[in-house]
Amino acid sequence: MRVLRLGAWISVALLVGSTAVALPDPPKTAARPTASNSVVQTKESQSAMTPARALDALKEGNKRFRAGTSVQKNLLTKVKATAAGQYPFAVVLSCMDSRVPVETIFDQSFGDLFSIRVAGNVVNVDNLGSLEYATKVIGVKLIVVLGHTSCGAIKGAIDNVKLGNLTELVAKIQPAIAASGSGTSKDHAYVDKVGEENVRLAMKEIREKSPVVKELLDSGAVRMVGGMYDLETGAVTFSEN
Ligand SMILES: [Zn+2]
Repeated sequence: MRVLRLGAWISVALLVGSTAVALPDPPKTAARPTASNSVVQTKESQSAMTPARALDALKEGNKRFRAGTSVQKNLLTKVKATAAGQYPFAVVLSCMDSRVPVETIFDQSFGDLFSIRVAGNVVNVDNLGSLEYATKVIGVKLIVVLGHTSCGAIKGAIDNVKLGNLTELVAKIQPAIAASGSGTSKDHAYVDKVGEENVRLAMKEIREKSPVVKELLDSGAVRMVGGMYDLETGAVTFSEN
């Protein structure tokens, strides 16, 4: 397994050539926690993780977060325990919204998740590359595309805003609007409907534009789910089909 993963990394390094230096370091030796209270993801824990267990871990973490029983503490200990390598079990593509801190809402911490954040959780070539790195090279078992209620990027797309580079970004949300019928950015239910559609289309786009990810999904090595985070309750509702 170790050889395969190293091979994958070398293949990617060869493919991307000099740009490889800009990517995060590939895993080195297994990062073993040294203190009993510093449980972090290791090569072994990542290998033992299945897509279903990864999803359960996020569901359980969100349940703890909502119940006010989050367990993520001793952060500096986790910093030290993860310094030698990373073995996260999931990658989350979510919105940049300041009210959706991904590690916090899933009660996860250093070394647990890859977090890709961009306004409106839109798909682009850079986050496709990041998803490929997370899955094929590092070995995460679950991809989550996470939207949220009352998303400002969704509202901006509905209002067809024009502003610098933002124009191009919100244009990526237009297909979700087209698929959601008519409505306004003042209509909360409509905004969230577009947000849900935007998640669904992002998942479709990831499959279509990344043969690397598609192969992993088709083989069952990796699973992809959508989710919506409710700004008012802190709950994540997953759509698992
Ligand atoms: Zn948003």
